[in-house]
Amino acid sequence: MGMESGQYIVVLGTGGTIAGTGSDPDRAWQYKAAQLPIQQLVASLPALADAPLRFEQVAQIDSKDMNWSVWQALGQALQQHLAKPDVAGVVITHGTDTLEETAYLLHRLYDGGKPIVLTASMRPATAPDADGPRNLLDAVRVALWAAEQGQGGVAVVMAGQVWAGAEVRKMHSHAIDAFDGGGAPALATVLPEGQVLSLVDVWPPSGGAGWAILDAPVPPRVEIITSHADADGVMVRAVWAAAPDLKGLLVACTGHGTINAPLEAVLRQAQLAGIKVWRSSRVARGGVQPREGDDFPAVEGLTAAQARLALVLHELGARLS
Ligand code: ASP
Repeated sequence: MGMESGQYIVVLGTGGTIAGTGSDPDRAWQYKAAQLPIQQLVASLPALADAPLRFEQVAQIDSKDMNWSVWQALGQALQQHLAKPDVAGVVITHGTDTLEETAYLLHRLYDGGKPIVLTASMRPATAPDADGPRNLLDAVRVALWAAEQGQGGVAVVMAGQVWAGAEVRKMHSHAIDAFDGGGAPALATVLPEGQVLSLVDVWPPSGGAGWAILDAPVPPRVEIITSHADADGVMVRAVWAAAPDLKGLLVACTGHGTINAPLEAVLRQAQLAGIKVWRSSRVARGGVQPREGDDFPAVEGLTAAQARLALVLHELGARLS
């Protein structure tokens, strides 16, 4: 195992704050995401001048606007590049807002053994203390290192930490080290001088459901409903009435998977009508463990946004292993 001569890493740009610019460095928080092309982001890093890299701009969006068609374009690009023997791995630049969704989706679909490394930033490229350059540099280093080690799968590099695509989540709305593994440990750390320190023997194996899942012209409609004080099910009734194509509801439950009784009653009616109802927790860490006799299946270890995707994939025929 290891990188062979002539092999290279493909860097795919999708936008995000890492490609964002603002006109006033003193007001770095006032900026527009997704402005700079991927070549320019890499070209601003002298340390990557001689790195074996190729580029493609797959999208240029603020990741709050992520949708199925961008995922389809990303899946196509990944499929095309990863099939080439000369491609040792892929780095993807992304926004932080939906990074955990894209990372989880790729983790579930990917069936290969090369590294796919996502990265992002909390501050725009024009901020005096921009974190994007370091994150991008680290992501390329991690992809090269993983290819060299024969380590494959989906990972996210942020603030010097490498998180599994299956577990990563945004935990802070503005801190530089905004991500963690929801209680699961990091896969590796990138030391300040650029050396990658491995913390696990092998990265979690990818789900392997296959890119063909993305051929569905539109995803099955699955909406998120949150349980909270006074939740009486009116949101369920509203979405049910407004969306005849409703296939599933993902409930962001209180604590360890509990639901306010009036909301639960309406969810039971929806379930009887054939709408799938799955549970995750609105609490950031710990998740919901399945118990025997659960009426609404529990999705373990995922955020509500990731669990929504798990139900979408289930509706498209992908099974959770
Ligand atoms: N709204 C931005 C995005 O997700 C935020 C970021 O990248 O940090 O694209």
